[in-house]
Amino acid sequence: MFWDQEAETMGRGGLEQLQLRRLKATVRRVYERVPFYRQKFAEAGLQPRHITSLADARRLPLTTSADLREQYPRGLVAVDATELARLHTSSGTTGKPKGLFFSRKDVDRAAELMARCLVMAGLGPGGILQNMMTYGMFTGALVMHYGAEKVGLLVIPSGPGNSEKQLLLMQDFGTTAIHTTPSYALYFADYLEKKGIDPRRELSLRQGFIGAEPYSEETRRKIEQGLGIDVYNSYGLSEMNGPGVAFECAEKHGLHIWEDFFLVEIVDPRTGEPLPDGERGELVLTTLCREAMPILRYRTRDITSILPQPCPCGRTHRRLNRITGRTDDMLIVRGSNIYPQQIERVLMDIPAVGRNYVILLEGLDELTVTVELAGAGFGGQVEKLVRLQTEITDKLRAEIMVKPKVELVAAGTLPVSEGKARRVIDKRSL
Ligand code: AMP
Ligand code: ZN
Repeated sequence: MFWDQEAETMGRGGLEQLQLRRLKATVRRVYERVPFYRQKFAEAGLQPRHITSLADARRLPLTTSADLREQYPRGLVAVDATELARLHTSSGTTGKPKGLFFSRKDVDRAAELMARCLVMAGLGPGGILQNMMTYGMFTGALVMHYGAEKVGLLVIPSGPGNSEKQLLLMQDFGTTAIHTTPSYALYFADYLEKKGIDPRRELSLRQGFIGAEPYSEETRRKIEQGLGIDVYNSYGLSEMNGPGVAFECAEKHGLHIWEDFFLVEIVDPRTGEPLPDGERGELVLTTLCREAMPILRYRTRDITSILPQPCPCGRTHRRLNRITGRTDDMLIVRGSNIYPQQIERVLMDIPAVGRNYVILLEGLDELTVTVELAGAGFGGQVEKLVRLQTEITDKLRAEIMVKPKVELVAAGTLPVSEGKARRVIDKRSL
């Protein structure tokens, strides 16, 4: 099933021609209207006419998250104030927020891409989507909401948290799909288990659109089992509309990124130099159809690679591999480079491990991983607990080359945030 079959299955030649046309228009637009880019072009001795092929894109300046903060509030806007239709902000973890503007067309196009994603995952009229992301300045909920309405779904704007209310809505209105983060999905699965509710028999859930945070295949499996749903990985970032940038099809193998709207590059995070298809690096995106706030070569800091092979679903837009983390996620512990994702993968593959964990760094590189037990745990059987603790410690050490201290706690005892999870607490006094 397609939302826009022509655009989604366009031949590569035609798609690339379209990209080039849109790239040139975007370059002209920012050169004429955005002093920040005009200055960057001047520094690089670059004129819009120098961009004659897609390969020339690498001559364009990279835009960083710091640039967006410095241009706050309106520095990157490329339209008159009367053409602005919506403001979102992205706060990230530190410092000033980023002001992200949409024109009316931008709002509609973001919804259009979201609609492609939802239909790709098998949704259509009659579907009932419970949107459990945070409504507000965050793009996560609103962009999904508009896309879902376009597709003809009934949208329940439940927002995050309050599992009791979420469950009631699902029971009373027959929710068929949810949109949430992996951490809340796991938490909610736990909640159902504690309540003794079998989602397969008592709820109508079929699909989950899970994103906003990195997660592993192991976590996908846990969510699918716990909620009795098909989980589709949903990737997006506020700087590029929010959700709907890249999404899985029924193959659930890589996320199609809508290349008629985004020019995709993978670069070496250290040097910024482009890498060939298939190599892992930092995702860099250029908006091709943005009116209010076009962004050239945005360094997402997300680590992934391109799957160049054609997809059996027939869509020609290339797929990204699951995002495995961010360039700024990396922890250096006793000289080893560790990504939190490595720890997650190990934990979620152990059946006795529950659905939440926290990584704590303190003192001089002491690493403690606190892990919730699955379900009822072992009913206080100390011997089994010790064995599990040793198993987790050994498996983590084999993966990350550092021996952590492992603490086991009962299911549901670690805090769950309503937005993105905070898994890593770094209290080191280094
Ligand atoms: P925000 O701009 O606040 O919506 O956050 C966007 C960031 O969330 C992205 O740059 C990624 O780091 C992360 N993110 C969003 N979706 C996913 C996903 N499906 N997998 C991994 N990370 C994701
Ligand atoms: Zn596909």
